[in-house]
Amino acid sequence: MKSLEEKILREGIVLDGDVLKVGSFLNQQIDIDFLFKMGDEIARAFADEHITKVLTVEASGIAIAVAAAHYINVPVVFAKKSKTINVHGEVYSARVHSYTHCIDNNIIVPKDYLSPNDKVLIVDDFLANGKAFEGLIEIAKQAGSQIAGCAVAIEKGYQGGGDNLRAKGYKVHSLAIIDEMSAGGIKFRK
Ligand code: 5GP
Repeated sequence: MKSLEEKILREGIVLDGDVLKVGSFLNQQIDIDFLFKMGDEIARAFADEHITKVLTVEASGIAIAVAAAHYINVPVVFAKKSKTINVHGEVYSARVHSYTHCIDNNIIVPKDYLSPNDKVLIVDDFLANGKAFEGLIEIAKQAGSQIAGCAVAIEKGYQGGGDNLRAKGYKVHSLAIIDEMSAGGIKFRK
């Protein structure tokens, strides 16, 4: 998505630790018009998939997931992060290493919200090493749901998570793929 690449170049800030800050339009302040353009683009990429739910993880995945789900016209389910390993109640859960917080979280979804009748699209804001998507895939599998694929606003392609998912056979649709990133500049995949 050319307009996303341009916005990243204009507004993105490269931080230490391989983190791209996009707080001006996606992660803190949200540019609603642009968010819904991204959601529309994701919905179009999966238009033929008969998706029944969009699945994401709190907190920063929720906005883009809502925008995509709006155009697909299905509910969003978001996994909550619980720091304890003791999970109570009827939930699906997976252990996920957080890229930005450098801790492990148990992510949980109540069994009420996903079932074998669902076909889910997994959506997040960033794809780096792929741990968040892998955890969400694990949850969808526990529910017996079909997985239509993965959609993300920004994939940092050089970190390999997206290509691992593709190698496992998942359809991964990224609105922008960064192949090189440093304080000196950002290069996108052609
Ligand atoms: P992964 O699990 O693929 O290694 O990392 C993806 C998760 O970490 C996303 O949910 C996202 O919130 C966060 N993340 C990874 N890289 C970045 C980044 O460069 N910038 C921001 N803002 N978040 C990131």
